[in-house]
Amino acid sequence: MSTPSGRFAPSPTGPLHLGSLLAATASFLDARSQNIPWTLRIDDIDTPRNVPGAADDIIRTLVAHGLHWDGTIVWQSQRLAHYEAAVHTLIHTGRTFYCRCSRRQLRGITVYPGTCRQRRHPAPETALRVEVNDAEFEFIDRIQKRQQNRLFETVGDFIVKRRDGLIAYQLATAVDDGSDEISQVVRGSDLLDNTPRQLFLMELLDLEPPDYAHIPTLVSANGQKLSKQYHAAPVEVAHARKNLYKILCLLGQNPPVESEFSSCEALLNWGIHNWSMDAIPAVKNLPAP
Ligand code: GLU
Repeated sequence: MSTPSGRFAPSPTGPLHLGSLLAATASFLDARSQNIPWTLRIDDIDTPRNVPGAADDIIRTLVAHGLHWDGTIVWQSQRLAHYEAAVHTLIHTGRTFYCRCSRRQLRGITVYPGTCRQRRHPAPETALRVEVNDAEFEFIDRIQKRQQNRLFETVGDFIVKRRDGLIAYQLATAVDDGSDEISQVVRGSDLLDNTPRQLFLMELLDLEPPDYAHIPTLVSANGQKLSKQYHAAPVEVAHARKNLYKILCLLGQNPPVESEFSSCEALLNWGIHNWSMDAIPAVKNLPAP
């Protein structure tokens, strides 16, 4: 049995930008301040989106900022058998079906209308969806506070295994966060909407859910999320200490003047000893500096 821990789980789709480093640092400080391990998981199963060299780049950037993880790196691509076993378990619950709807058919639709619910037998060129119910999911986010969501109304039956055979993000994340005994998930608020789906899957798979804290997402002047997709500038490792100082300020931690810190380690140590989740602005978005 492993020890409850925190984790950072980047997808290797490009270098870290300030927003993703913010999530990495927040989850690191949160874990270290509780004296629990902090693990690094590379979410590399969405192979068409993987960018060659990105995982190494992310790893180098974390190290350059003094963000050292415990144990060995977890690569989702090496756990496919584990996810397939979960797919199997879900099929056995009798709550999955094979969906033939094309992307074009579903364009503009946010809540899956249940079109293929009757298709209970495997067929080629189909995605596996899990049927949701009208139960209300309620959880207390450590930053964003009380969240309520009825999957039935917000997303409908959702995909756990894609038509191209790849395991969906929701399932891989639920399985890993549930079975690695992750006790604290600290990640960007852009992922908040995914949490009820992951909680739902953990419930079906009989896995223990973690506590969640969704930190503000950094947005550019025109309100767009800093993301690899929009080519946000990669963080410069040459400015690691400055980056971390900026991050502590963005997280509302109110550090003493920058000149008091001579290294990343000094900043992180201060961050660990003074960590306050309550000081993080309870908003979804923050303007990027
Ligand atoms: N791999 C996801 C991403 O980089 C984040 C996963 C998570 O924190 O749940 O967006």
